[in-house]
Amino acid sequence: MVRDVVCGMTIDEESAKYKTEFEGNAYYFCSQWCMTEFKANPEKYVKL
Ligand SMILES: [Zn+2]
Repeated sequence: MVRDVVCGMTIDEESAKYKTEFEGNAYYFCSQWCMTEFKANPEKYVKL
């Protein structure tokens, strides 16, 4: 399990529909909204 860094939800990476990469790391999201938010401000979330 991985954490959605935008909203804090726990995500099962096996079934995650929303995934992106930033600086070589994979990030998973619960929704299109969270992924869009992350892509808009990745620096804000990767440090958390
Ligand atoms: Zn989310």
